[in-house]
Amino acid sequence: MNLYVGYDIGGTSIKSAIIDQKRTILYQDSVATYGLHDPLHTIKALMEQTKTFIAERKGSLTAIGIGCTGPVNRKTGAIHNPYTLPGYEGVNIKTMMETEFEVPVICENDANAAHVGEASMMDPAVPNSIMITFGTGIGVSVRLGGKLFRLPGPFHPEIGHISVGVGSPDLCYCNKSHCFEHVMSGSGINRYAMDTYGQSPEEVLKNPDSEQYRKFLARMVDATTEAIITLSILFNPEVVFIGGGMHLFICRYVMGPVQERLDTLLPVYGKTVLKDSQIGPLAGCYGAAMLATGQSG
Ligand SMILES: [Zn+2]
Repeated sequence: MNLYVGYDIGGTSIKSAIIDQKRTILYQDSVATYGLHDPLHTIKALMEQTKTFIAERKGSLTAIGIGCTGPVNRKTGAIHNPYTLPGYEGVNIKTMMETEFEVPVICENDANAAHVGEASMMDPAVPNSIMITFGTGIGVSVRLGGKLFRLPGPFHPEIGHISVGVGSPDLCYCNKSHCFEHVMSGSGINRYAMDTYGQSPEEVLKNPDSEQYRKFLARMVDATTEAIITLSILFNPEVVFIGGGMHLFICRYVMGPVQERLDTLLPVYGKTVLKDSQIGPLAGCYGAAMLATGQSG
């Protein structure tokens, strides 16, 4: 049995999935990105788990796909991310996997990997779509004509740092105050709730009749709507998938009001439909495994 492994390396967890040729998920697991071990030991432990599963199934590992939160060099596999993956800078997971397993290893931006996983679930397929992953940071992936939009070089564009019309009291690490990621990433939402209200985002949003609920939610809806309008003008997607570790929060509070706002826009902005992730946190590792099969992306 030919098996394909997908890893999704995020700022909070590293997820893995193993699929067969029919794209059926046979195995899935997750470990903390910053657990008890340093990055190299964490990756080695992941590889051991993968080896054990494949040996038990008497399968044949054919290829590996890795989705990694950027910036990551897609061609060499080197991680250049001191912001959301501190400690992993310079780690080359692609080379480690190639040496250990002696199979082709494909490295991809994590939002692209999640997008491949999510888009494969659409029936009928949608040719033009965008995926926004709300997690420790924000990832944005664009698919046009069924193909991932990639720049000629090895790096994925940092679309998560586009400007939105909502400022923050402090600067993002990209040095802007009106940055989408700084406002709407999980860390950004948590930081703003704690600094402004001394509460977690869920506590701030406990009472829908309160002033703090209205203000806190309006800030998130304004920022997300601005970001999606800009992306819609540029790419005119039929669908924008909402995924990442924060997708339940975003879908519960933010997605509905944003969709209502988008529906009132003039046709010049395109008709964009927001869709909650169908495979949720598994989208990244499933998509990475799909990329390894060579059938997508
Ligand atoms: Zn930024």
